[in-house]
Amino acid sequence: HPIPVVTVDGPGGAGKGTLSSLLAEKLGWHFLDSGAIYRVLAVATLHHDLPDDDEESIVPLATGLDVSFETDKESTRIILEGEDVTDDIRTEQIGAVASKVAALPRVREALLRRQRAFQDDPGLVADGRDMGTVVFPDAPVKIFLTASAQARAQRRYDQLKEKGADVNIARLLSDIEARDKRDTQRSVAPLVPAQDAIVIDSTDLDIDQVFEKAMEVISSRL
Ligand code: C5P
Repeated sequence: HPIPVVTVDGPGGAGKGTLSSLLAEKLGWHFLDSGAIYRVLAVATLHHDLPDDDEESIVPLATGLDVSFETDKESTRIILEGEDVTDDIRTEQIGAVASKVAALPRVREALLRRQRAFQDDPGLVADGRDMGTVVFPDAPVKIFLTASAQARAQRRYDQLKEKGADVNIARLLSDIEARDKRDTQRSVAPLVPAQDAIVIDSTDLDIDQVFEKAMEVISSRL
């Protein structure tokens, strides 16, 4: 029997991470944060002093990436080469490098098997950009979660403000727009909804409403 997969794709800041981890928790399924893998690879690229467009050197780094996800009841810690990088990978700088290494076709290919290995009983919720189009094309449930760039910038602003960071909303908006452009216009695995994906626009919805809609989609398709 095929192990069921729910894919959640969409642009950065649409709330995919929050939605996917909630769904995984409710369903009692595994969770793949594929963006975290690209972010960890970005950290490794910087650690090894490699230029972020050096496909030749980054491919073997991606293939041999020594990363593990250690989940307990409270949280998931992400360990790279024995070092806890859970917090380090969440910066804007690492996000930008991640989106550059993610634009390299052979790097994406090198990470396919690692991502597919998350498909395990009793099921998987996979969060990313190309989960429904490339990594799990046969998934029975595909969600594309989006929101206006303005709304995504505002959410990011609120998050950072809460942490006491000094942030500029115009700057956040232009960063988001630049990353969207890179993610949607790259030649390999560009950010587009799968043909059979259900689009949920979270611009005017709170997380409970998004969750409700997603659960409706899941129960109609599983
Ligand atoms: O989702 P997150 O912001 O953590 O992803 C970081 C970057 O990794 C994205 O901007 C995107 O370029 C890349 N990514 C990708 N494919 C995925 C997940 C993330 O290209 N499945």
